[in-house]
Amino acid sequence: MVSVLPTEEGNVAVVVRVRPQNQQEREGSRHAVVQVIGDSMLVFDPEEPRLSGVFTGFRGHDAPKRKGKDLKFVFDQVFGESATQEEVFQHTTKEILDGVLNGYNCSVFAYGATGAGKTYTMLGSEKSPGIMYLTMVELYKRIEARKEEKSCEVLISYQEVYNEQIHDLLEPKGPLAIREDPEKGVVVQGLSFHQPKSAEQLLEMLASGNRNRTQHPTDANATSSRSHAVFQAIREPLVRAELVLLYSSSPLCQVPLPPNQLQVPCPIFVKQQDRVVGITQDLQVAKMSLIDLAGSERASTTNTKGERLREGANINRSLLALINVINALADAKSRKSHIPYRDSKLTRLLKDSLGGNCRTIMIAAISPSALAYEDTYNTLKYANRAKEI
Ligand code: ADP
Ligand code: MG
Repeated sequence: MVSVLPTEEGNVAVVVRVRPQNQQEREGSRHAVVQVIGDSMLVFDPEEPRLSGVFTGFRGHDAPKRKGKDLKFVFDQVFGESATQEEVFQHTTKEILDGVLNGYNCSVFAYGATGAGKTYTMLGSEKSPGIMYLTMVELYKRIEARKEEKSCEVLISYQEVYNEQIHDLLEPKGPLAIREDPEKGVVVQGLSFHQPKSAEQLLEMLASGNRNRTQHPTDANATSSRSHAVFQAIREPLVRAELVLLYSSSPLCQVPLPPNQLQVPCPIFVKQQDRVVGITQDLQVAKMSLIDLAGSERASTTNTKGERLREGANINRSLLALINVINALADAKSRKSHIPYRDSKLTRLLKDSLGGNCRTIMIAAISPSALAYEDTYNTLKYANRAKEI
């Protein structure tokens, strides 16, 4: 497979992943509405193939050919039902990890209706862990490989945006506020950061974080997730408590020492950052955000009232804001344009990780089942729009 992910800064790559039909869908024996062609094309609602020759028989008269929309879409990559987690990872986040190591922020989000395979792709299961896990394992590997030249440490956080509030998924507490720091960029106040000691520990953190997500059964799907989960890895230059000897010729040594302290030969110890003074590259902080979005289906398709309705409106607010930001970035590419980051919690949170120098990958998750016809159509239309950035 040839990879066509962005090499330029500020691009958005759009890939589509079609999940396998589940047992219920297969038993319904309805035709699949998505047909994958090669690595980068799919046909939505394909025309049924014309039966030819002797096999046409009289049945052709009884059952006229169904007329589909027969829409062809081309994306940076299309993953069919048999694609593995590893394959999806290899052709998505793996490509942008070098960017993170070189100080660029990036974001990868899974978009799609409830049940389309977002959580499976991002988080996965214990048996087949998803992108969040595979990405981190690769990131640690690369950091280890170049530790001689550059040291850095990685801190992880896992939070959710639910009902326009931010919650820490690793150390649950009250809603957290966002603030913008001139140096660190977007900061969520009180958010916990962690350094898992092993891949197993990371996996356990992801799983327990996911258990802390806010989930409410709705008529559309019993385990529908109504929150946006944002997993972030922040790569920071390592602050090494390195002991540096300054000789007595240093002007610092001319400062008189208190009488009860060591007088000679005036060595002093300073804490120094692991960098050569003047080389700013080593100081770069990079943030990688991996996001499992809430279901994109319209609130009106689920039977929602009261609390759920307000919740639905807020879900749409964050999603709508994200869609608007992506669209504005597309327009901004050709001209000026104001990017409406401030319109929701999710877009405020991702302000320093979308657009500008950031690399973004959108993974549109779809079901091939006829039962998800409208959702799949809407997701493909939106993914196609995002591609224009
Ligand atoms: P979403 O997060 O978009 O609501 P899920 O990721 O929970 O959807 O997927 C719905 C169901 O389909 C889950 O049972 C999940 O395990 C299964 N599933 C999704 N994608 C795949 C896949 N690529 N291979 C196998 N099973 C999948
Ligand atoms: Mg989910």
